[in-house]
This record gives sequence, structure tokens and C-alpha cells, in this order.
Amino acid sequence: MQNKLLFEASVAGSNSFQLPPLDVPDEMNLPEELLRPDNPPLPDLPENETVRHFTRLSKRAYGVDDGFYPLGSCTMKYNPKINEWAARLPGLAEIHPLQPDETAQGALELMYRLDQALCAVTGMDRFTLQPAAGAQGELTGAMIMAAYHAKRGDAKRTKMIVPDSAHGTNPATANMAGFDVVEVKSNARGLVDVASLRAAMNDEVAGIMLTNPNTLGLFEEDITEIAAIVHDGGGLLYYDGANLNGMLGVARPGDMGFDIVHLNLHKTFSTPHGGGGPGSGVVGVKQHLEPFLPSPLVAKGEGGYYFDHDRPDSIGRLLAFHGNFSVLVRAYTYLLTLGAAGLREVSENAVLNANYLRVLLRDHYHIPFDRLCKHEFIATPSHLKQEYGVTTLDIAKRLLDYGYHPPTVYFPLIVEEALLIEPTETESRERIDDFAAALIKIAAEAEVDASLLQEAPHNMPIGRVDEVGAARKPILRYRATDLV
Ligand SMILES: *Cc1c(COP(=O)(O)O)cnc(C)c1O
Repeated sequence: MQNKLLFEASVAGSNSFQLPPLDVPDEMNLPEELLRPDNPPLPDLPENETVRHFTRLSKRAYGVDDGFYPLGSCTMKYNPKINEWAARLPGLAEIHPLQPDETAQGALELMYRLDQALCAVTGMDRFTLQPAAGAQGELTGAMIMAAYHAKRGDAKRTKMIVPDSAHGTNPATANMAGFDVVEVKSNARGLVDVASLRAAMNDEVAGIMLTNPNTLGLFEEDITEIAAIVHDGGGLLYYDGANLNGMLGVARPGDMGFDIVHLNLHKTFSTPHGGGGPGSGVVGVKQHLEPFLPSPLVAKGEGGYYFDHDRPDSIGRLLAFHGNFSVLVRAYTYLLTLGAAGLREVSENAVLNANYLRVLLRDHYHIPFDRLCKHEFIATPSHLKQEYGVTTLDIAKRLLDYGYHPPTVYFPLIVEEALLIEPTETESRERIDDFAAALIKIAAEAEVDASLLQEAPHNMPIGRVDEVGAARKPILRYRATDLV
């Protein structure tokens, strides 16, 4: 059954399990029309073949524990194993979200302290730990903006400014929260064009969503002027802090003038991610927005810690319970093991690694913004495309043959054929040298035999896949007819 799907490998009657006879009264009493006439058609396999099937699949996956993963904007850094140890402590792993507060004091204290630590890191005054992903954090922030303007009786503010370099979730979120998106162009240096921003700002604008450093890896040097323009116009500033890797311990969004920030604990604060979760997009606000934060928040009273539900101006709940708690445990462990000095070192090394790699590549790839970057930078194969017809996708696929996960490709959208590279702070100089050598070798291959790249990967279990087809017509459940 080497390459078979589990359903195809099924051998009726091989019986991977045996249930004991029912020894309690059969009191389900389900109405007849809700009962299945037959058992569901599940694959039938012995236990050892089932284990082999899933183990084989797991060996085909690639994660940050397998190798280098320079996925720009996604921050695939190494996840320290001490975080996993802490997340599995029975007292933290086995509590129930509906337990009475007085029986979950340790967990509540952890959440309370994490809130305080994140305030210190970002310059905010209070965090909600509820949102389960960055995008949900953004939605929380946009809803808080709406609630703030509504509370002041300012009903005209229906627009949200988003720069053209923004992460795709920003305009999508603004839209989902009911705002009309106003796009502001970047200037030739890859930064928000201040004159365009000034022209876009008026009393219909609720606020701006900004990432700093932006998705080109560049620090928005005019941030204080940007903050003044938005605040003077009556708007709020939202900071997309999914990747705080270039900022930790060095600069704080709160000091730059931001009113709301979300962090991706699963990126910057080292929870394993990819494949969709679990995540944590915690949201911090300045004091004037605290009343609008989702409910409940953890508070500290005479009798200990408790969930404070008495929040009349809150935007409400974002999640059934209290966030992805195990991710909070990992982030708190990460913060405590590093401490303030260690956090700063994370940033310094992330920025050093990105700049070192940028300089190694600059004679072999086009670097559109070839100056000091923060935690990530853009490279493009524009000359290879012109001369040999080799695209960014070809380079990404060829990297697989060298055992590397490719960087983010074709994002941000404002740079053609972009490779967005984020080496992260946890990689050694030797690893970065080796990765650069692979990219340089690939550029040389393109000059000799472009087809080697255009037909890559050559060493993977499958070659080029139909990525557009997979996105447009996904097959999400097994049906034999879909596969012929
Ligand atoms: C990853 C990312 C997001 C979205 O976070 P999710 O947890 O994937 O929803 C938003 N903004 C930026 C800049 C990001 O890198």
C-alpha cells in the first residue's frame, strides 16, 4: 500500500479493532430517522498498517525541526523544547475551561502575568489573550476601532487606510469589519508615502493598519509623522505585530503612537505553527480603548484571580473560551527563559542574520531595497527571468531538491517575482552560508540549463502540483470518483 490512500488500502474484514459487547443499558433513544441504516464506509485496516500509513505520511512533511525554513513574514523560528515541556505540565494541560476560577488559579495567574509582560514588550496597557490567530486579532482590533468611534457618536468613519505593502489579511479584515479600504501607495524607498497618506486622511477615516517593519522588512522611518497625521485627523493606529522579530526589546509600537496592536504568539513567541494552527493573535490596547476589549479579562481581586465579565462596553466574545491556552503557556515560558536582555538579543540576531544573508546574495539576485533591513528582505531573480525565462517559482521548486523549504514567494505584491526571505535569529552562520550557497548555485544552474529549474523538483515524492487547481477546486473528502 506504499502510495495508496487509506481508503484504497482498505481490506474489508481486516478489523483493526474489536469492541467488547455492550455491557450497559442501550439508552440512547435516538429517533429512528436519525439512525444510520448502515455503518459508515470507513477504511478497514489492521493497526500496524494504519500506523505505517500515517508514519509514512509524517515523514514526507517538512517542518522547522527538519531543517531551515526561511518563510518571510511567517517567522518559522526554532521552537525551544522547554516550551513544550511547560505546555504539557498536567496542571496546565488538563484543566477545563469551565472549571471554577478558584480551582484554576495557576492558569489565571499565568494569563495575568503574560498580559503584563506583553504590555512591557509593546508599550500597551492591556491585552486580550482570546483571539485564536493573527487574522482574528486584526478583526478584534478593527471592531474595537468601530466601537470606539461609535461610543463617541462619530458615525461617519467608515474607511480604513491600508498601505499597498500590507499583509493580505489587513484589507480583508478591514473589509470584514465593515470598513471601506483606502489603499495608500508606497514610495520609491518602499515606505508609506506620507503625502498620499495626508491626502487620504479625513473625518471619514476610522484609522490605519500598519506593519512596522513593513512586509518589505523596512522600518517606517516617518512613523511619528504618520501617527500625528492619523491622530490629528481623529483616527486610530493599528499595528500588525504578527512578526515582532525585528523589534523585540529595541522599539515598542506603543511608543511610536500605535493605539492597538496584535501579536502572533505562534510566530514571534515560538509556538510550532504552519498547517493552520493552533495560534494566538493576542491584542493589546492603550488605556483609552481598554473598555472595548473582548470579555472576559483576567483580573486580580482580594480572593485571587478571576474572569471579569463586568465589561459593559466590551465588543463581546471572540471565542467560546479563553484562547488557545497551551500557546499562551509556550509564550510565557519563552519570555521567562529569555528575559529582557535575551529578547533584545533575539531581535539583534534576527536583523543581523537577515542583513548577512542579503549581502551574501546581492551579487547573484536583484535586491530591490538594498539597504539595512530588519528581520526580512526581498530578493528577486529578475535578470534570470529576462535572460533565461526562469521564475521565482522555478527557484523555489529547485530549492526543494537542495533540501530547503523555499522562502515566501510572490509576496508582497508590490514587488514582481518576490522572494521574501526571513532567516530568523535561531539559525547559525554555517546554516545561512549553506543556504546562500544553494541559492547561488541555483542562479548559476539557470544560466547553463534553465530546464533543470523549470522542471524541478526532481527529488521529491511528487513533482509540480496544480496549485491553482488545488486552491480553486479543492478535494476535501474522499470520493473514488474525484480521483480518476
Ligand atoms: C501571519 C501574518 C498575519 C496573519 O496571522 P494568522 O495567524 O495567519 O491569521 C497577519 N499579518 C502579518 C504581517 C503576518 O505575517
